[in-house]
Amino acid sequence: MNIEKKNYLFRSVSTLKGVGLKLSKYLKNKNIERVNDLLWNLPYTYIDRSEITSLNKLEVGKIATVSVIVRKYNFPRIRNLPNRVNCKDESGSLDIVFFNSREGYIRNVMPLEKRVVVSGKISFFKNKYQITNPDYITSIDKIDYVKKSIPKYSLTEGLTEKSYRKIIEQVLTNLPNIKEWYDKNFLKKMNFLDWKTSLLKMHKDLKKEDVNSNVYRRLAYDEIFSHLLVLSENRKKIKKIKKKSKIFDKRMFYKVVNSLDFKLTKDQEKCIDEIDGDLKSKNRMFRILQGDVGSGKTIVSFLSALNVIQSGYQCSLMAPTEILARQHFNLAKKIFKNTTIKTELLTGKTIFKNKKKIISDLKENKIDFLIGTHSLFQKKIVFNNLGLTIIDEQHKFGVKQRINLTTKGGNDCDVLLMSATPIPRTMMLSMYGDMDVSKINEKPANRKKILTYSKPEKKIDELWPLIKKQIFNGNQVFWVCPLIKESKLLNYSSAIKKFEFIEQKFPKRTGLIHGSMSKEEKEEVLKKFLKKDIDILVSTTVIEVGIDFPNANLIIIENANKFGLAQLHQLRGRVGRGQSQGICILLFKDNLSNNAKKRLKILKKTEDGFLISEEDMRLRGYGDIIGFQQSGLKFFRLADPIHHEDLFKIAETHVKELENKLINTNNYNFLLKLFDKADVINEAYSD
Ligand code: ADP
Ligand code: MG
Repeated sequence: MNIEKKNYLFRSVSTLKGVGLKLSKYLKNKNIERVNDLLWNLPYTYIDRSEITSLNKLEVGKIATVSVIVRKYNFPRIRNLPNRVNCKDESGSLDIVFFNSREGYIRNVMPLEKRVVVSGKISFFKNKYQITNPDYITSIDKIDYVKKSIPKYSLTEGLTEKSYRKIIEQVLTNLPNIKEWYDKNFLKKMNFLDWKTSLLKMHKDLKKEDVNSNVYRRLAYDEIFSHLLVLSENRKKIKKIKKKSKIFDKRMFYKVVNSLDFKLTKDQEKCIDEIDGDLKSKNRMFRILQGDVGSGKTIVSFLSALNVIQSGYQCSLMAPTEILARQHFNLAKKIFKNTTIKTELLTGKTIFKNKKKIISDLKENKIDFLIGTHSLFQKKIVFNNLGLTIIDEQHKFGVKQRINLTTKGGNDCDVLLMSATPIPRTMMLSMYGDMDVSKINEKPANRKKILTYSKPEKKIDELWPLIKKQIFNGNQVFWVCPLIKESKLLNYSSAIKKFEFIEQKFPKRTGLIHGSMSKEEKEEVLKKFLKKDIDILVSTTVIEVGIDFPNANLIIIENANKFGLAQLHQLRGRVGRGQSQGICILLFKDNLSNNAKKRLKILKKTEDGFLISEEDMRLRGYGDIIGFQQSGLKFFRLADPIHHEDLFKIAETHVKELENKLINTNNYNFLLKLFDKADVINEAYSD
């Protein structure tokens, strides 16, 4: 294969014939920068120009292609009047009307007495048929360029069908003949055609919406497969790293477990075992601990830290915010109080003197467990012998940051991530396919179901007695205002308004928190709420996941329609952690649509975050899945986790097979490049 030709697709679109600076800019607006980007912009419909219609058979409003003789020009010298060209065929006559086209151009494409082919929408004006600003005009010998079914692409300003067609046809004609990367049997089993044929067919006969056609599925599979292959490569890379296995007995572990005021759930025990297995092995751990809010991940990670410290190493735990880090720190001190484990807290707020001491103690191995925020990532923070890094609420870190993590802390450092964002299985695979997964499904036994109700907003006054009673009983209340994506300002003012309204009813006992406040201001308010200086916290959705508010047991969510199910579930999970019954009230503005009722029913029926996330994806599409956007994962261009769920499963097995057989993946280099994955692989291998 000619290298030049193979690389054709990976060059800038500006290297294409007819694409200058201006067109490049327009294409860029559509996220088309390299030639291969053009391939994923699929036709959304086709316009049938294949019939030549005689002029006595024209229908107003339809697109027609006509073959006519140019009879007469009319170039009025008055501004705003269009140029007209009268044409005829054997059966009648028609005017071609031009706004904004110059006389010279018209004379050139429509020479007098010559036959031309014109295609466009038929209209009727002053008793005459006409085509205004035709889509195509060509001489009769080029009739085949027009007389056919022509794909229509979604285009942006500045791009016409004609100019775009020249570009995409050029690319399709020059598609390289690449050696098929799947084996024949697989293609046959899946009913797939080869790559090039599939692409050509896609752009000739099929549409964007034909997601279930075999042609589309082949291309989507390419994308899914390449994505999982990258993760598998990263995984292989991690598995190759050898570390010293950690040796520990579990006397201390049982001592701490027995001192807890609850019993570990089966799932918690299972996860601890899985982690122990990794710690003891000679391979580095790269594991994610998934579990719904309140499922008790923290204690699992602390007990794992304990085992690591028993084996003579240090541990670190990183949380996304100062409050959460502090909460973890206090818990660790409580849990480890009868042990010799030395725990410290390091955040951006730690004063200089203490920080200096922590840094030097850390180096001298006088600290076993360091808990903190992003500050732990600073260069000057050097551990003596770090054996485990724990990262809480990991969805805030992107894929690249995760890859970087694997290189931090040295080879003997195991990595454990925790996430409370349950996501559908297909997304799980796409986001964490490079990691081992431990899952907590079962909630602690003492946890009561959160009662979930819905209420029309006009009945808001019925809530005040309930709120008063809750506060009287020593409970606290969250009041969440809707998130309106399009308008941050609106979102912000609605929370402020609500705050002012509620503050009148509960003077001095109401607080406000929203996304436009600084991090410090937010933390200040949260601390007040934690200390019970206020009873009601009005907020947008900024309340941190992960923080334990043991006294909050009532959450009211306004305009609940605006939220996805998974998000409602996460919000709801912020109450009912303590002794008293948790209550969630969803307020609705209008009468509920059927879809909204369906969603509500799911929420009332189950507290299984994973199930809810699957349903949420079905009802809203995958782009809205929490954590997906933050993950740094680009949207799939073709694949759709809902329609192509089966392909994800097949690709998972396929990739595992390659991994187990240690098959060289060079075969797939072109494929990886096609979906912009080659860089990720290089990065994963660059150290
Ligand atoms: P998350 O998984 O959301 O991080 P946490 O670890 O913060 O959840 O745990 C939530 C609460 O549940 C904490 O107060 C914790 O002490 C408590 N908890 C954890 N495990 C159990 C258990 N097995 N039984 C009862 N309570 C538990
Ligand atoms: Mg947590």
